[in-house]
Amino acid sequence: MKKKLVFATNNLHKLEEVLLILGDKVDLLSLKDIHCDTDIPETADTLEGNALLKAEYVYNNYVMNCFGDDTGLEIEALNNEPGVYSARYAGEDKNSEANMQKVLRLLEGKENRKAQFRTAISLILDGKQYLFEGIIKGKIIREKRGEAGFGYDPIFVPEGYDQTFAELGTNVKNQISHRAQAINKLCEFLRSI
Ligand code: IMP
Repeated sequence: MKKKLVFATNNLHKLEEVLLILGDKVDLLSLKDIHCDTDIPETADTLEGNALLKAEYVYNNYVMNCFGDDTGLEIEALNNEPGVYSARYAGEDKNSEANMQKVLRLLEGKENRKAQFRTAISLILDGKQYLFEGIIKGKIIREKRGEAGFGYDPIFVPEGYDQTFAELGTNVKNQISHRAQAINKLCEFLRSI
């Protein structure tokens, strides 16, 4: 029988990406599917901590197997900022456009454009906690390019490519992204038990 798993997110872009990667291997439920409309607080100071907060919220309140994720853009020349503060880098309204403009402004005149996206996934399965990580290295370009994706996608070019995530589009992104790598590790684990 397929395992039922709640993905503790309200972000439709992420849900769509994860559904594409997981396929029909598990029965994936969103927060909406379980009638949870809480904006689960992300108050930890690490990606791993926030991923666990989300998974624990669902497990403690709904007693369902679940996983939470958190992703950050880590830019070498900015001491790995925005990192865990990626969503709110330019303010509480989580505005992607303002976040990208802030990054571009802070990197003005800097030669080192190295960056990586890092995803932490915390799974709670039958009461036990497991952690998975995915990383994609790349660089921040000097101006936005492309329309697909979300967040910082228009300014991030993954290593080995000339186009941004927003130009490469969802299909390519889903094969190589930080989230895809973390989700693939989650899937491998689910298959192995
Ligand atoms: P979250 O907490 O996992 O939703 O990620 C925090 C923030 O990182 C988001 O609000 C986005 O700005 C950014 N982010 C997360 N994943 C991606 C991605 O795949 N591409 C671009 N930006 C992302």
